Amino acid sequence: MMADKKRSNPLMNQSPGLEKVTTLLAVSSCKGGVGKSTVAVNLACTLSRTGAKVGIFDADVYGPSLPTIVRPPNTDLFSRNDLILPLNFKGIKVMSFGYVPTGPGGSGAAIMRGPMVTQIINQLLTGTEWGELDYLIIDMPPGTGDVQLTLTQVIPITAAVIVTTPQELSFVDVVKGIQMFHKLKVPTVSVIENMAYFQCDGCDKKHYLFGTGVRQRLVDQFGIKNSFEIPLLPDLSRLSDAGTPLVLEQPDHPVAQTFREIAEATVTEIGRIREGAVGMPEMRFVIGRGIVATWPDGREQDIDPAELRRRCRCAHCIEEMTGQQILDPSSVPEDIYPTEIHPMGNYAVAVNWSDGHNSSIYPYDLIAEMAAP
Ligand code: ADP
Repeated sequence: MMADKKRSNPLMNQSPGLEKVTTLLAVSSCKGGVGKSTVAVNLACTLSRTGAKVGIFDADVYGPSLPTIVRPPNTDLFSRNDLILPLNFKGIKVMSFGYVPTGPGGSGAAIMRGPMVTQIINQLLTGTEWGELDYLIIDMPPGTGDVQLTLTQVIPITAAVIVTTPQELSFVDVVKGIQMFHKLKVPTVSVIENMAYFQCDGCDKKHYLFGTGVRQRLVDQFGIKNSFEIPLLPDLSRLSDAGTPLVLEQPDHPVAQTFREIAEATVTEIGRIREGAVGMPEMRFVIGRGIVATWPDGREQDIDPAELRRRCRCAHCIEEMTGQQILDPSSVPEDIYPTEIHPMGNYAVAVNWSDGHNSSIYPYDLIAEMAAP
């Protein structure tokens, strides 16, 4: 069974409905319509098939889609000890505004302001009796605005999965998502590129209509290794519309296999973070020594600033298509120093430099590999 270790979270203990929930996993996207709910539901069903106890909370007040994608046989809501009982869909506990007969999701939702929306989401989430769950998947409202920020602050989210599409502009969205979660100390553990390619009937060729490369950039720049692609697949949409998620209906489909890989990688990464195996070094500049990275085990690593500057892999320093270096290494002064160093997500650090070059991003893996000067 894919279940990670229990932990106690004071915020969870304040919310009676969430008391026995081990992991809250946010599935998030910057824009609507990228397939966030489709991914959330198929991921939840995949985890459930492994034997884990799973719930799905649809936090989208304006456009709740859970009631379309999963259709519990009985949608009458009951309460017990002031908590609402979630609905049951094939052993998965589900709750959405779409199931609340007079709740938001109808025409009233459009006129609600941010704070009201957050309050209502919070009430329904914490007021549902989730019982004992290994994973509660939160299908977040799209965007990285106030509603999402506040929600992430009030709910003790363990980790985030970001869903995006392959267009160039979407990369900017992923960065925004990673930054928002980072601000709130929520690690982004996986990125899913949905509708990444198309395969015609009877043809093995994957047609990447919007190009590739986003996933490699995530690895290079943010150190996020768990990135996956899901094709544009009419069946995925058809089965969602029919209320029968693909991973349950066609468990042998290659996309169902991809969801198993996503689930496995996500669970493993959450476990690694819990155990402290994902080490974020603290980095600072020390005159006479260079950049000093202090790892969680206390080990100090000295890094030559000029060497690090030369390793920048941003679009100004590396030709994206060919991977060739644009930056002339000899143009980097030996006495260059960082003007600012700050973490960027859980796996990388951003550095501004004294030569005016800003926001170089270095995965911690690269830092660890760098030899001392
Ligand atoms: P979001 O939650 O981001 O608003 P949804 O999951 O509701 O997006 O998906 C939007 C629409 O796109 C739905 O009709 C869904 O069935 C369809 N869809 C999502 N992912 C895919 C895919 N990979 N291939 C084909 N259709 C998809």
